[in-house]
Amino acid sequence: VENGVSGSDDTGVKVIVRVRPTSKNEEEGEVIVQKTSGDSLTILGQPFTFDSVADATSTQVDIFNLVGAPLVENCLAGFNSSVFAYGQTGSGKTYTVWGPANALLENELSSDQQGLTPRVFERLFARISEEQNKHADKQLIYQCRCSFLEIYNEQITDLLDPAQRNLQIREDTKTGVYVENLTEESVCSIKDVTQLLKKGLSNRRTGATSINMESSRSHSVFTCVVESRCKSMDGLSSLKTSRINLVDLAGSERQKLTGAAGERLKEAGNINRSLSQLGNLINILAEVSQSGKQRHIPYRDSKLTFLLQESLGGNAKLAMVCAVSPAQSCKSETLSTLRFAQRAK
Ligand code: ADP
Ligand code: MG
Repeated sequence: VENGVSGSDDTGVKVIVRVRPTSKNEEEGEVIVQKTSGDSLTILGQPFTFDSVADATSTQVDIFNLVGAPLVENCLAGFNSSVFAYGQTGSGKTYTVWGPANALLENELSSDQQGLTPRVFERLFARISEEQNKHADKQLIYQCRCSFLEIYNEQITDLLDPAQRNLQIREDTKTGVYVENLTEESVCSIKDVTQLLKKGLSNRRTGATSINMESSRSHSVFTCVVESRCKSMDGLSSLKTSRINLVDLAGSERQKLTGAAGERLKEAGNINRSLSQLGNLINILAEVSQSGKQRHIPYRDSKLTFLLQESLGGNAKLAMVCAVSPAQSCKSETLSTLRFAQRAK
């Protein structure tokens, strides 16, 4: 694929808005977001429409059915497939992508709380053995390799081996875009994946002050490369490779530049920049898919878009879960997330 150009007609981004339940410190009375149908909501009376809207009554299974199950099917069909969780800190991104992270780490995750990632891999492995049984004559061989990284302040850290910091993105005509020295582990079962998830999540950046504060400033990217080989009777062997990316984005709230100095100032600027670059990119992809016109796509503007470029344009499948709080106190961030979600359509 020619770098920076996309003209495919099937690059539309599927956009889901998920309104979480009110939290302990939010009052029922200050709820300002209402779901009005399967694909619409209002905020203080102002209507918005997306591909789907989920609210407090929606379960983790509902979200899996909306974006997780199609992700697995797209991947098995050979498309690079990604889900991004976007939204302000505290809106439910991590809950959506992993499930409540603390419970996961402490082995206290009940099965109904499990987020997208464990469900996606449960389905993936089930579908793989189904495919293998269905095509027993062809000897289908699947291989799945996972990696887990964090982008913080435009620097990549390997979450499966956190001594590996400031990893570099390379591009190779044969293998495409890859992260040099990034750990890749083979996985064959949901147990393997859960182990990697735990290891990676426990290595997520934690600060002296607050775990949530620091991790809200980084993007985490869990990737699985699914390779299939097929030996048919006449000896032909074909190979299909596609990727699954599950991305928990940095909090979308504007990082305050006032009062920040030195590293903090640089960091705040980098987060704002990489989120707005992702936003721009998604706008361009949506525009390209609607108009069919070719346009230059600025993948190289940020680590996140450079890293994921082969999963963003062309034949890639994208879903964006935009997480919002229902509360009055989050009004301006919620409006900004809904506008972002609208633009991605
Ligand atoms: P973020 O990753 O966007 O900062 P979290 O996923 O950590 O936000 O969610 C903030 C809090 O709200 C957590 O305690 C989480 O368990 C809870 N939460 C989020 N979404 C839901 C939901 N749909 N149902 C129940 N609890 C939720
Ligand atoms: Mg989070």
